[in-house]
Amino acid sequence: MTSSPQQTPPLSPTNFIHDIIDDDLKNQRLSSIVTRFPPEPNGYLHIGHAKSICLNFGLAEKYPGSSCFLRFDDTNPEKESEEYSEAIKRDIRWLGFAWNGAVRHTSDYFDKLYNYAVALIEQGKAYVCELPAAEIKSYRGTLTEAGKNSPFRTRSVEENLQIFAEMKEGAYPDGSRVLRAKIDMASPTISMRDPVMYRIRRVTHMRTADTWCIYPMYDFSHCLSDYIEGISHSICTLEFQDNRVLYDWFLTQLTSGPRPHQYEFSRLNFNYTVMSKRRLKTLVDEGAVASWDDPRMPTISGLRRRGYTPESIRNLCYRLGVSKRESILHINLLEESLRNDLNEVAPRAMAVLNPLLIEIENLRPSELIPLEAPNHPQKTEFGTRPLSFSRQLYIEHDDFMEQAPKDFFRLTLGGEVRLRYGFVIRCNRCEKDPTSGTITKLYATYDPETLNRKPEGRKVKGVIHWVDAASAVPLSVNLYDRLFTVANPSTLDNEGSDWRSALNPHSLEVKTGCFAEPVITGSKAGESFQFERLGYFACDTLSKPEKLVFNRAVTLKDSWSTRDHHP
Ligand code: ATP
Ligand code: MG
Repeated sequence: MTSSPQQTPPLSPTNFIHDIIDDDLKNQRLSSIVTRFPPEPNGYLHIGHAKSICLNFGLAEKYPGSSCFLRFDDTNPEKESEEYSEAIKRDIRWLGFAWNGAVRHTSDYFDKLYNYAVALIEQGKAYVCELPAAEIKSYRGTLTEAGKNSPFRTRSVEENLQIFAEMKEGAYPDGSRVLRAKIDMASPTISMRDPVMYRIRRVTHMRTADTWCIYPMYDFSHCLSDYIEGISHSICTLEFQDNRVLYDWFLTQLTSGPRPHQYEFSRLNFNYTVMSKRRLKTLVDEGAVASWDDPRMPTISGLRRRGYTPESIRNLCYRLGVSKRESILHINLLEESLRNDLNEVAPRAMAVLNPLLIEIENLRPSELIPLEAPNHPQKTEFGTRPLSFSRQLYIEHDDFMEQAPKDFFRLTLGGEVRLRYGFVIRCNRCEKDPTSGTITKLYATYDPETLNRKPEGRKVKGVIHWVDAASAVPLSVNLYDRLFTVANPSTLDNEGSDWRSALNPHSLEVKTGCFAEPVITGSKAGESFQFERLGYFACDTLSKPEKLVFNRAVTLKDSWSTRDHHP
């Protein structure tokens, strides 16, 4: 397990999995541990996966001599692709983790798994079943009702071996037969009622191409892949709790010596979003978002593009800890974690999103006053940058009101305001569009005595951001809001509605014609700034030097908490 030292997160809170491992080490059941992160390459990783990644790779970091593997659980060829595996590897590396050795795949073990299946048949503990899928399901029974034995359950070992071999050779059509474990159709644990181990599927696999037309099921392949790799702690989410007996059953029948143990923890969930790959894929396929890495998506690639830092995600995962308690966390927690990190690391700059031109009447057109601004309000090591102040400036439209209420401390007609890191200006008059009446330009004078000094004899309460027009760099900016308008979109399906009906039509606002200080020139994707008073912004992946695009990663304060009181 390697990870650069500056990325090592703060000491993770201890959790029940640490207790289990500490106990295993203390009692010398093990001298080191081996974990794995086993994604199915059927979509991009989301923030929930980050929790599992931080947990599994984090354990290998915490316990000396330990390892964490990356294993693609590639047993569903119709849904899986290289694009997804590449994206998954990129995301894990970006989070700051490195898997031990080569990337592994369940498909690496297809031969071994087949042989294990044959061994189980030879023990008389597996059979080929020809019931149609619907009947396998209805025969399985319910929580309160025992299942019924399949009429194929009594097939001889020889017959099963022969048909299973024929299945592998492609003698039977897709879906016509399955291999099932012969366990107990009356078991109180439904996963033990003769679970399916193999199905027939003629789909070209991304790695094994058309070598196989039978593919193993998760419950059969996962425990054995863990065993083959020497995994000690196989950590998964709570929905697999009931499958643990089956996990252990296969290992008991087929293996000897040290074996992996499965432990479950609760999933990470956030409100105002969806986190199943199936739903995320629907959003992409239906064009509700532009791509898997659309900055509104809860995917790791979406968060990265939006401006999230690996540290903000890792810190959050470590702070949240690991437990068995199911909960849906407020998305504000994620945003707050980013704010805390960017506050430390993002240099400050000024940008104007709704520019209003001001002409400084007591400056000559060619006159330019050099100013200086700190790149961080507390951290002097960030240094300073030059700002120019000349006859034409942009301020935010909203920072001017012709006639303003008493509590409006920004610029008004005849009023004064301070330009951040610059002078106090007074607005003398405004120009309007004759038809719409909107203000198109302001005329002002600046007070040369007010640089870093209070104006004599008057109080100027407001400070606004601005950009010098002479050196302003044009950019466009994407502003984001929550992807859904309701806290739990997934539950709408149970209420007879469609989760997609809760998509927020205003989740993206594109602002063109914005201006920023020259300091943003040459920004590369992912580079971030705090645009003063506006939030933290990161350079988008589609940004070009001649056409800069920034995404607002997060606002400066949580602008939703007040809105939340009025659902
Ligand atoms: P989803 O249901 O969201 O599509 P999945 O569980 O099918 O995800 P996998 O690729 O099978 O996705 O997951 C890889 C690993 O990540 C598994 O060990 C799984 O338990 C874990 N994982 C998936 N979602 C979450 C989550 N929300 N919180 C924590 N761990 C998760
Ligand atoms: Mg899955």
